[in-house]
Amino acid sequence: MLRLFITTIFVAVMASAQTFVVEHARLIDGNGGAAVEDSALVVQDGRITYAGPFADASIPEGAQRMNMRGKTIVPGIINGHGHVGLTKDLKQDQAYYTRANVIKNLQIYASYGVTTTTDMGTALDSIFEYREQRNKGEFDGARVLTAVHGFTAIDGYPTRVPGVKGVANEVATADQARKLVDKLADDGADLIKMWVDTHHGAYPKIAPEIRTAIIQEAARRGVVSFAHVYELADAKQLAAAGVRVLGHSVRDAEADDELISLLLKGDVTYIPTVMREAAMYMYGSRAPWVNDPYFTRSLTATEIQALRTSFKAAQADPELQREGASDLAMAMKNVKILHDAGVNIGFGPDTGPPGRFAGSFEHLEAEKLVEAGLTPMEVIVAWSKTNSRALGIDEDFGTLEAGKVADFLILNANPLDNMRNARAIHRVYMGGKRFRW
Ligand SMILES: [Zn+2]
Repeated sequence: MLRLFITTIFVAVMASAQTFVVEHARLIDGNGGAAVEDSALVVQDGRITYAGPFADASIPEGAQRMNMRGKTIVPGIINGHGHVGLTKDLKQDQAYYTRANVIKNLQIYASYGVTTTTDMGTALDSIFEYREQRNKGEFDGARVLTAVHGFTAIDGYPTRVPGVKGVANEVATADQARKLVDKLADDGADLIKMWVDTHHGAYPKIAPEIRTAIIQEAARRGVVSFAHVYELADAKQLAAAGVRVLGHSVRDAEADDELISLLLKGDVTYIPTVMREAAMYMYGSRAPWVNDPYFTRSLTATEIQALRTSFKAAQADPELQREGASDLAMAMKNVKILHDAGVNIGFGPDTGPPGRFAGSFEHLEAEKLVEAGLTPMEVIVAWSKTNSRALGIDEDFGTLEAGKVADFLILNANPLDNMRNARAIHRVYMGGKRFRW
């Protein structure tokens, strides 16, 4: 209840008082139906009051009218798997988790059209303050939904990843886990995250009965549960236990009928994070995006230099190359299998940690999912309707329909022709307010 209350308040506070109409653009509303070729999008006090054919619109008196013929409106990107504030110059450290770094991160996200990001379990408690400041309009940038401290086994993944020790909740018993879920819910966490991964055999995994306790306690408290997963058997166990979101691809085996039926029965959302897999090894061989100005524009000179030298060298290891290529290939195969079977496919590349860059990676993810076999329309539905449902924010966010918050992008080109056209962002609006960068 508390969460819904907070959402209502911030939307009201953030609303831009103005009434305006975006006219004659192509409208893709996020529901997956045909685009409206000549549309009107009417925004009043930060919310959409009409989205549909221009011919059927009634234009409020005194509204500001903007002719956007030739452009395309899409829902703002909801990033279902991201991290915020912990990384600087390709290094993770809790010392970097400052207001300034969090704001910079949220602004980079927004500049690429990400209007909401998640912060999946590697935050410090100060995120509550920053989230509130953002929602009160003290600074502009992507909205953030946070899991604050994710759950793992004692010494489990990712506790030995630099900068993460002490951020994750390392739990030994189901009872301890339940109490910590309660604390997070009381504190105002939007999501509950856990890691279920040996990371190629390097870490112990959290025990199945503890995972189940976390999922059940999160459900009891009305908070969305989210699991980082790698193995098919774990994906099945988590789905059977009632997890709401699987935050990575199954990468050890092909998705089978049992997994499909568990995901469908549980209405579980599967977020493939294919660019996460690419970023785990491709810097060591060829990472074509490193030479792409759309990607490098948000990077510091230090980061670009490191990607081409030390970061590249660290990923050149042949074993890592082999594992990475195999993981990515399986991820690409499984998203297609699960998508074709009708499973909810969500969206989010696991941006934020070193080598996975806010905003630009969302676009690379979209393009990679098309390569995996989704259509551009299906990718847009994944980042809007499916993600808003998965994250429990669909009452206010996701699709472009009357009553929803006006978080949308105006593009210079049609993404249905080519997913890359989503990069051509003309304007970003959040709560009916134009974001400038
Ligand atoms: Zn992650």
